[in-house]
Amino acid sequence: MIVLKSVYVRFVSIIILASIGVTIMISSLPISSDTCRCEAPVEHDKQHERFQSSFQEVSTSDKPKLAILVPFRDRFDELLRFAPHISAFLNRQQISFHIFVLNQNDRFRFNRASLINVGFLHVKHRYDYIAMHDVDLLPMNDNLKYKYPAEGPLHISGPEFHPKYHYPTFIGGILLLKVEHYQSLNGMSNRYWGWGLEDDEFYVRIKEAGLEVFRPQNITTGPQNTFLHVHDRLHRRRDTTKCYNQRDVTRRRDRETGLNTLRYSIAKRHELTVDQVPVTVLNIDLECDRSQTPWCECDGKNDGKTRQESKKQV
Ligand code: UDP
Ligand code: MN
Repeated sequence: MIVLKSVYVRFVSIIILASIGVTIMISSLPISSDTCRCEAPVEHDKQHERFQSSFQEVSTSDKPKLAILVPFRDRFDELLRFAPHISAFLNRQQISFHIFVLNQNDRFRFNRASLINVGFLHVKHRYDYIAMHDVDLLPMNDNLKYKYPAEGPLHISGPEFHPKYHYPTFIGGILLLKVEHYQSLNGMSNRYWGWGLEDDEFYVRIKEAGLEVFRPQNITTGPQNTFLHVHDRLHRRRDTTKCYNQRDVTRRRDRETGLNTLRYSIAKRHELTVDQVPVTVLNIDLECDRSQTPWCECDGKNDGKTRQESKKQV
């Protein structure tokens, strides 16, 4: 009996020591980056699971959960204003939400659409709908309801209310989609490096899929007082340079690229608070296939006159 007991005690001690050893080995491994060169959704899921933390993102209520996806680079002042503002605004509507800052960490030109694609893949299993949300556009009218867009994309910053863009097919600024719709559209095109047109291409995707775009109703404010656009055009210059065949390609509807062709890695996930508002920052390295989109870097050799043209526009 005693012999059996001591064998048992020895066995249990070996198991405990072995598991401590394995735990120490795993925790001492370097944190590798979340490289995703994969197309199969299950691979994306595995990659993103590694970045789910115990951080409480949204409440556990039954309400639809909203992921605020903010494409971002070098807009720190705007973020300091945005996070507390949108938090108070959405709390008044009792929306269950969390803010994700999609920080473009690589050295390519800014790619708003690809960042939103990355953000979407990161949240799609835990959230019911997304808001692609410019960091510099603050809603000022409490009747702009960020409700679950069950029927079709809900464009909050419609052309009658946006301070700057007034054409009827405009869907930039702030656009809400349920996860299933964004997935079925294959997300946004990855071809748009630099400023502009990615939202117009997305409008065509939405229309070709037979979806209707909805806008807030009964808004009595106008372009001057519905949103605050915190954007100084000289301090925050838009990158309107065009090089190689960028102008031609980005004018056209893109049937090839989107969620299923996205190439990126997430170098790090940070949890911050801005005035007590929780914010998750994803440091994202986008990849560029120069054979497909050489304009992800304009080196000055192929942008000739258009650089002058673009200077006039800013
Ligand atoms: N943005 C950014 N850094 C940049 C360019 C753009 O963070 O260098 C993000 C930011 O969220 C911004 C949005 O992309 O609000 C849209 O860009 P921008 O404000 O230049 O476009 P606008 O709608 O004013 O023409
Ligand atoms: Mn702006």
